[in-house]
Amino acid sequence: MVLRLLKYGLRSHYVPRPDFRFPTELKPSYDVVIIGAGGHGLGAAYYLSNHWGIRNVCVLDKGYLAGGNTARNTAVIRSNYITPESVRFYKESVGLFQTLSEELDYNLMYTQRGQLTLAHSDATMRTFRMRAEVGKHLGTGIEMVDRKQIAEIVPQLHMPEDHRYPILGGLWHPDGGTGRHDSVAWGFAARAMDKGVEVHQRTEVTGIIKEGDRCVGVETTKGRIRCGNVIQAVAGMSSVVAKLAGFRLPIRTYPLQAMVTQPLKPFLGPLVSSSGLHAYVSQTSRGELVIGGGSDPYELYSTRSTLDLKESLIGHTLELFPFLAGVRLLRQWAGITDMTPDYSPIMGESPVRNYWLDAGWGTWGFKATPVCGKRMAETVANEKVPDILEPFALKRFKTFDLVNEMGATAASH
Ligand SMILES: Cc1cc2nc3c(=O)[nH]c(=O)nc-3n(C[C@H](O)[C@H](O)[C@H](O)COP(=O)(O)OP(=O)(O)OC[C@H]3O[C@@H](n4cnc5c(N)ncnc54)[C@H](O)[C@@H]3O)c2cc1C
Repeated sequence: MVLRLLKYGLRSHYVPRPDFRFPTELKPSYDVVIIGAGGHGLGAAYYLSNHWGIRNVCVLDKGYLAGGNTARNTAVIRSNYITPESVRFYKESVGLFQTLSEELDYNLMYTQRGQLTLAHSDATMRTFRMRAEVGKHLGTGIEMVDRKQIAEIVPQLHMPEDHRYPILGGLWHPDGGTGRHDSVAWGFAARAMDKGVEVHQRTEVTGIIKEGDRCVGVETTKGRIRCGNVIQAVAGMSSVVAKLAGFRLPIRTYPLQAMVTQPLKPFLGPLVSSSGLHAYVSQTSRGELVIGGGSDPYELYSTRSTLDLKESLIGHTLELFPFLAGVRLLRQWAGITDMTPDYSPIMGESPVRNYWLDAGWGTWGFKATPVCGKRMAETVANEKVPDILEPFALKRFKTFDLVNEMGATAASH
């Protein structure tokens, strides 16, 4: 990567690489059809084609390449969850991110600048202690920090003793970071296409074809395709597409909004989040502040932005950084997120044979893009769910083996 960049910098003219080649016609059949050309679907296509030699794969999207939640997220990548099952899973993803730019030969702008999560109550301090212990046990380098350490990590934080939301302590996650969300999807797409994977944009899946209890193909707006396996990776449309396959998912769907400010001189190294205030902030390499919060308080399939959210999110952000009061907002946007009862994803088998689920990613699925792609590809290649995905099976909602991550998900994404 470094050498390529140097060569690129010294070149007198630049010939663009044809990264994306989109075929016009669908073939009548594929080994694997992936519904959804977001990071997850494209990640699975990359690992199937590059690691498992399964190249007769097509990825279908009703919109355009990575135009769903992949394009809308705030790019937080971390592994400081509560349950050992989740920590193991997200830690594998952080590990993959560390070498992914090299592997894909695509600059993902991945930086590990640390994430500081703030506690404003004793209850949060107790949860943080538990998270720190689980993280330490599993080698993620997470630790509790006191007020003095917080002031050293982020000196710009407003933390008077008599604050309306007093900062009692925090959870420091040195491995936390961000990556360029679009590039992650583009990198996976480019390298999957190199191996012959087809990506069809503006091709909506409108039906799932079954023979008995087995999936054998899909109906699309461009015709019918037969296939050996299907991966459903449609984020906020999971319930809608699962219904086409004839089953229900334990998912409720909410809009999630975020916003970005005008660029400022760099002042904020780490990511800062507060679940109590429902706000998190990071500064991009362009200097903009990316600000996110909690989901909208009602279920809806809509990507509109609201004044309510803007007001509350700005208010909470100013509690942490009052000096930002004069800064202008550039953009505000929303995505549709599908939330499970335990705030963990659903991966693996569905009630339909050969129809595999990658769903329930709610507000936290970007960070899992590489691990999910890798492990879903492994699942389909072997037609067997690997151990690391077992805890996230759909059947856990029948057996009540929940992977409860509510406390680690709220507003840290
Ligand atoms: C505002 C916001 C902030 C977020 N912040 C973070 C964060 O900081 N960190 C984090 O880890 N996660 C975050 N997330 C969550 C993250 O964005 C998602 O979990 C992740 O992007 C899901 O990726 P995906 O590939 O599954 O979905 P998507 O990128 O949404 O791709 C799914 C695709 O499926 C397509 N599709 C849907 N229905 C059909 C159909 N019938 N036929 C064909 N195609 C179909 C859609 O067009 C879409 O392109 C955030 C989400 C939002 C909205």
